[in-house]
Amino acid sequence: LVSREHHAERTVVRVGGVPIGPGTMTLIAGPCAVETPEQTLAAAQMAQAAGATLLRGGAFKPRTSPYAFQGLGAAGLKILADVRAETGMPVVTEVVDAADVELVASYADMLQIGTRNAQNFALLQAAGESGKPVMLKRGMNGTIEEWLMAAEYVAQRGNLDIVLCERGIRTFEKATRNTLDISAVPVAQRLGHLPVIVDPSHSGGSRDLVLPLTRAAIAVGADGVIIDVHPHPETALCDGPQALVNGDLRELAKLVRTLPPVV
Ligand code: PEP
Repeated sequence: LVSREHHAERTVVRVGGVPIGPGTMTLIAGPCAVETPEQTLAAAQMAQAAGATLLRGGAFKPRTSPYAFQGLGAAGLKILADVRAETGMPVVTEVVDAADVELVASYADMLQIGTRNAQNFALLQAAGESGKPVMLKRGMNGTIEEWLMAAEYVAQRGNLDIVLCERGIRTFEKATRNTLDISAVPVAQRLGHLPVIVDPSHSGGSRDLVLPLTRAAIAVGADGVIIDVHPHPETALCDGPQALVNGDLRELAKLVRTLPPVV
């Protein structure tokens, strides 16, 4: 269902009216985790001023350590809905458990499935039945074929509104948090018809890498990027070192405007 063999034209997915697909360079930005109403609104306004048209923000956070901040859960979803009402930005947020799909879908404009759940088939199927577009991150140890097969689980449930997101893979290299597999973008676009975006924040794990990796994403023809921003990264409860602040965001806005995507 997701293969180019059966669907020659590349697909455009609309999230609350915002297109992601061939010819777009959709900027999705917001906080890694929803912490407070003030922090989420401030991050959304920074993102919007930089040209972001979709708001990201995690209410359910899949953390490596059980002692780390796990997200606000349902209270975080309500904050996201309030910020959407205030800014008009449709919301992308992660769901980590099949049992929560209905709840998350009742607030979100797009469901995000994270790298750690890239082969959680029950979750993929539930997302496929949610009626909402799905952003599917590549598993950190997943091949491109496994990623497309994960998308197939969503598609099989009648939902072809799927956006693939390359977010870096595990390699021997320790200088970056993950290794951005930039070649995965054109390969996934050649094999499948779904839009492919890049997450430069989670790939590099470091603020100074976000702009260079965004340039790379634009250069290979990615259909969008998803970026962490925070009004006060030094106090962030999740992934502060990779969050962009205002100055970086102005640079990012220039970049997205001046480097036209490859179509
Ligand atoms: C995220 O985008 O908040 C996230 C946890 O990403 P990933 O699943 O790629 O680690």
